Amino acid sequence: MSEQPAWANLIRNVPDFPEPGVQFKDITPLLANGAAFHAVIDEFIARYADLQIDAIVGIESRGFIFGAPVAHELGVGLVPIRKPGKLPADTIGIEYQLEYGTNRLEIHRDALQPGARVVLLDDVLATGGTMLAARSLLHKLNVEVLEHAFVIELAFLKGRERLQPDPIFTLLTY
Ligand code: AMP
Repeated sequence: MSEQPAWANLIRNVPDFPEPGVQFKDITPLLANGAAFHAVIDEFIARYADLQIDAIVGIESRGFIFGAPVAHELGVGLVPIRKPGKLPADTIGIEYQLEYGTNRLEIHRDALQPGARVVLLDDVLATGGTMLAARSLLHKLNVEVLEHAFVIELAFLKGRERLQPDPIFTLLTY
């Protein structure tokens, strides 16, 4: 595995949250550390500065935390993909399968123009189901997803295999 970034020790592992067997990657110590938060945002900015993107699309809710400063610095919009019932105007949605039950994600129907070039951003790539659903939503709007970006990848859950061959960028891999 490649070398871990200096801020890796600020990702707190919380066992059995939110349910038994899950090792939750808690990013709040990272967010609370100004230099570390800055370093993470700078990594994304460096990568996307020359890509001529139209927007960062952040997935609720931790995708917003990282997405907003990246979009701000790039001078592009931030578009939220949210859990059901949160977006006030006309939406399109997609259901996706969880281990037990289903989830749903929504986006405003007029959030992006057809042909827009975006980067999709979330904090953690686990099984990949969330990002796959988010990508499908954007494809329904005829939006071009240039890359799927994450702060953390849990490689043992093989989410990457579900998203490939489309580009994936992660800063820290477990
Ligand atoms: P998945 O759809 O399985 O790739 O799960 C990704 C989504 O669930 C992301 O929005 C993450 O914020 C959250 N998530 C899944 N597993 C974890 C974990 N072990 N630690 C923190 N967040 C997680």
